[in-house]
Amino acid sequence: MLIVGLIGGIGSGKSTVAEMFCQLGAKRIDADQIGHEILQRPDIQIAARNRWGDSIFDANAKLNRKALAQIVFHPSETGREELRFLNFLVHPLITQKIEDQIRQFSESGSECCCLILDAPLLLENHWEKKIDYLIFVDASQSVRVARTQRRGWTSAELDARENTQLNINEKRRMADWIINNSGNLDETLDHVKEIWQNLQTLTRK
Ligand code: ADP
Repeated sequence: MLIVGLIGGIGSGKSTVAEMFCQLGAKRIDADQIGHEILQRPDIQIAARNRWGDSIFDANAKLNRKALAQIVFHPSETGREELRFLNFLVHPLITQKIEDQIRQFSESGSECCCLILDAPLLLENHWEKKIDYLIFVDASQSVRVARTQRRGWTSAELDARENTQLNINEKRRMADWIINNSGNLDETLDHVKEIWQNLQTLTRK
C-alpha cells in the first residue's frame, strides 16, 4: 500500500481533493480531524485551561477553537510562543495517532492500494518520512482568500495562519505532483484521475 501525503495552502482544496481520491478507492487519514479530536481529550483540556484560562471555553465548557486560534495565531512573539506551547502539547499525540492509523490500515489486509495522509502541516512536522509520494494542491492566493471567507475568516486571519507555516513555494517545490485547483471541480477531478492511474503503477519508495 502506497502512502501519499496531501498538502497545500489553506483553502486550496485539500479536503476536496482527498474526497476525490477516496471516491476512486483510496483511504484517508485526516490529520486536522485527529487534531480536533485530541483537543477534546480531558487531559488536554485541563492543560489548555491552565495555560489560557476560561476564555477559550464556551458556556457549555466546550473548547472554543476560534478563541484559541485568536491567541495562537496572533501575529506577535506572544502568539508564536503560545503556538509553540500548543504544538508541544498536541503534536506528539497527533503523530502517534497517525502512526496507529497507518499501522491499522496496513495490517487490515485491505485491498486498497493507496492511503492518503491529508495533513496540512506534514512537512512542518517531518511526517514526510512516513510517506512515499507527495501531492501539493494549488490555488491562487485570491481564490484561497475567497474560499476561506466563506468559513468566516478575514484575509488577515488567513495570512496570520499561513505565516506560521512553511513557505508555500517551498512546499510546492517538494511535491511529486501539483494539482491546480483554481479552476472548476471537473478539471481537478480529471487531474486526480490521471494521478490515480499513475499511482497504480508505482511501488513503495
Ligand atoms: P482545504 O482543505 O485545503 O482547506 P477545502 O477542500 O475545504 O480546502 O476547500 C475550501 C472550500 O472551497 C470548500 O468550501 C470547498 O467546497 C471549496 N472548493 C474546493 N475546491 C473548489 C473548486 N475547484 N471550485 C469551487 N469551490 C471549491
